[in-house]
Amino acid sequence: MHSMHEDRIHEDIEKVLVPSAAIAERVRALAQSIGEDYSHADGRLTVVPVMTGSLLFAADLVRALPQRRLRIQLTTVSSYGGKATATRGSAIVGALPKHLEGHHVLIVDDILDSGGTLRLLRQEFESRGAASVRACVLLRKKIPSALGTPCEYVGFDIGDEFVVGYGLDYDDLYRNLPYVGTLRQEAR
Ligand code: 5GP
Ligand code: MG
Repeated sequence: MHSMHEDRIHEDIEKVLVPSAAIAERVRALAQSIGEDYSHADGRLTVVPVMTGSLLFAADLVRALPQRRLRIQLTTVSSYGGKATATRGSAIVGALPKHLEGHHVLIVDDILDSGGTLRLLRQEFESRGAASVRACVLLRKKIPSALGTPCEYVGFDIGDEFVVGYGLDYDDLYRNLPYVGTLRQEAR
């Protein structure tokens, strides 16, 4: 049986914002929409998870799309780095996804904050001849920079707080939590 409450919350977590059951339900709904929207792109859909934050989200999302023939091409964008919790601009790290020409690209990211990551990747993939570029984020902060950045699929709108869990980190920790929550002051 599913419960809206987590069995055990990590001691460094102040409060749970999005419980694991709510994430699972939302991921299924997003996959349903995406599956329908990309029915025309069968075999020409490339999902681009932004590492490392979208690792869990992207894994669950593609697993909920078993009827679609799709490719997965990882990309890494650095924005925060380490213990910083304020944005510093974005840059693509390492090789870019290949063979995107004529492909429908779906960028999958953990959270939409300044919008720098999505703007950068969208521009990059469009200039490489993608047939279309859309974005899907698990979380979006209710701040002007995030709300003003085009994003076709959004899991949850949350307040302007620093969150961890379900892929999101603080100093590379807490990515393995199955829920999204805020950190206790003492853990920072
Ligand atoms: P943007 O480029 O939109 O400013 O931010 C996107 C990236 O910043 C995310 O992929 C994530 O790595 C990082 N980020 C933004 N807000 C948060 C947050 O509240 N918690 C964590 N852990 N990372 C965040
Ligand atoms: Mg990230």
